[in-house]
Amino acid sequence: MSAPTGTSPLLRADTLCMNFGGIMAVKDFSFHIDAGETVGLIGPNGAGKTTCFNMLTGFYSPSNGRVLFKGQDITNRKPHAIARLGLVRSFQKTNVMKRLTVFENVLTGHYMAGRQSLLATFFPGEKVRRAEREARESAAEIVETMGLSHRMNAPANLLSCGELRLLEVAVALAAKPSLLMLDEPAAGLNSHEATTFGAVLKTLVGRSIDALLIVEHNMELVMSVSDRIVVLNFGRKLAEGKPGEILENREVAEAYLGKAAA
Ligand code: ATP
Repeated sequence: MSAPTGTSPLLRADTLCMNFGGIMAVKDFSFHIDAGETVGLIGPNGAGKTTCFNMLTGFYSPSNGRVLFKGQDITNRKPHAIARLGLVRSFQKTNVMKRLTVFENVLTGHYMAGRQSLLATFFPGEKVRRAEREARESAAEIVETMGLSHRMNAPANLLSCGELRLLEVAVALAAKPSLLMLDEPAAGLNSHEATTFGAVLKTLVGRSIDALLIVEHNMELVMSVSDRIVVLNFGRKLAEGKPGEILENREVAEAYLGKAAA
C-alpha cells in the first residue's frame, strides 16, 4: 500500500464514453475515489458498470474521456501496467485454483503480480531467498486478514461458497493493490455469508489497501460497506451520495423497480 500524493483523488475518471458499434454503453461518466474511501458502483442490469470497470482498468479503450490514477493519465495503458501502478481488479469469474490450498493460492497471486525474473527463480541468490520469505509472510498475513487462517492448508475445492469468495479477494490482495476494484464479489452468497464477507471487506481500507471500489447487486452488502454510492442507469450517472441518501432517492428506486412500483 502506498499513500497517494497531495490532495488529488486516488482515481479520477473524466467524461468517459464507450461506444460499441453505435451503442453508447457508457456516456460522459465522471467520478472519483479518494484514499480512505469505499465506493459502491450500482445500477440495474446492463447499466454499464462492467464497461466502466473495463475502461478504468485498461481492458477497454474509452471512446472518449480519460482516467487518472495517482495523478497519472492511465487512459490507454495496458491492464498489466495499470495493475503494477496499484490499480488491481477482480473478475466475475473466479481467480482461484481449486486444487491448491488457500495459502498456495494467495502465494501464487503474489508471484503472478511479481516482477521476479525466471532466471532468478531457478538460480536464487540471497536477495531472491529473502523475497521468497517475505512473500510467504505476506501471504500468511493476507490469509489472516481475510479471516481464513483456520483454512490455511485446506484445498480450495473444500471451501464453502463464503470462504471461496473471501479467498478470491485474498488472491487479489496478493498483488498489493492501492485501489482494489471488486466486480460482484459476493455473487452466490446467502445472507449470513454476505454479512461475514461485508464485515471482512470493511477492515481492508487503511489496513491492506488505500481504497475500494465495489460493483455488487447485493444491496444490503453494498450499502453496509460503502461510504459513497454511485448509481449508473443506461450508461449515465443517475445519482451519487451516501448510502442513506441513495436509498431515499426516488429516481434510483424507479430505475430499479419501474415508475409505478417505486
Ligand atoms: P450487469 O449488472 O448485468 O453485469 P452492467 O451494468 O455491468 O450489467 P455492462 O455489462 O457494462 O452492464 O453493459 C452495458 C451495455 O453495454 C449493455 O447494453 C450491454 O449489452 C452492452 N455491452 C457490454 N459489452 C459489450 C460489448 N463487448 N459489445 C457490445 N455491447 C456491449
